[in-house]
Formats: sequence, structure tokens, C-alpha cells
Amino acid sequence: VTCDRIRNQLGAFADRELSATERSAVEEHLRSCEKCREEMARLERLASTVQESVIPEVPAGLAARIVARGQTQLASPKPRRLLHIDWWEALPSTMRAAAVIVLMVGLSVGTWLGWNSAGVTRVPMVAATVPDPDPASSIHADYLSDSPGGSPAEVYLTLAAPTDGGR
Ligand SMILES: [Zn+2]
Repeated sequence: VTCDRIRNQLGAFADRELSATERSAVEEHLRSCEKCREEMARLERLASTVQESVIPEVPAGLAARIVARGQTQLASPKPRRLLHIDWWEALPSTMRAAAVIVLMVGLSVGTWLGWNSAGVTRVPMVAATVPDPDPASSIHADYLSDSPGGSPAEVYLTLAAPTDGGR
């Protein structure tokens, strides 16, 4: 019974995680019990094997490269996103309104088409997946995916979402 208890503590003993009292109890037992000494030696061999073989060597300068990469990305925000915001902000407000109206009409028609063609199993409101004779429909889809936060298109999407009660 003593050996079982000691062997349960051998791992912690090897890692120096035991309290002083527990530690001296283990040491005391190891002096008198050869089997536990063997077990302890086995654990130590295992630990040294793990240290030598399993942990791969970190390439030189890896940490520095990671930090440098992170700093580069922090310093320059995503250029594509920035471009789209500039593009949206650069539009005159009348054009923005017109674009939103076109978007809303396209969405309504798309939803309506989805209603009628799908019958009972209603197609979710995704204008991009609905066939649209209007060649500008792909532009509408771009509005959907790339509209900057807080833009009228996104506000409209937020408002329109509850009407898609199928889900
Ligand atoms: Zn023992």
C-alpha cells in the first residue's frame, strides 16, 4: 500500500511539485525500497528521453520573425477593406441612396422569385443565388459581401433579416 501511494507521487516528485513533507516521505521510502527506486529511475529515463527527442528544436530567429510579421500587419490594416470604405465614402450621397434602392429592389425581386419558384420549401433570402435577368446583379452581390459596417446596405440587411422567418 505504501508503495502504491509513493509511486503515485513519483511523477510529482520528479517535477519537484511535492511539499517538503511529502518529498521527504518519498525520499525516505526510496532509500528503503528498491522497487520504487527502480520505478523512479524508469521515470527519470522516460523524462530525459522526452526532453531529448520529442521537443523539436525551434528554428533560430523564429520568434523574431513572428513578432515582426505581427507588427507589420498591425502597422498596415487590410488594404482591401480600406479600399472599399474609401470607395463607398467617395460616392455622392445621392448615388449611395440610388445604390441602396437598386439593392433593395433587387433583393425584393430575388426574394419574390425565390418564393415562387421554390414553392413550399422556401429559398432563403440570398439575392446572389437567385437568377436575375439584370446584368448588374453581380454588383448587388458585391454590395452584400463587401459593404462596410454601418453602410445603408448593411443596415438594410439587418432590417430585412427578420422577414426571413424560414430559418
Ligand atoms: Zn516501495
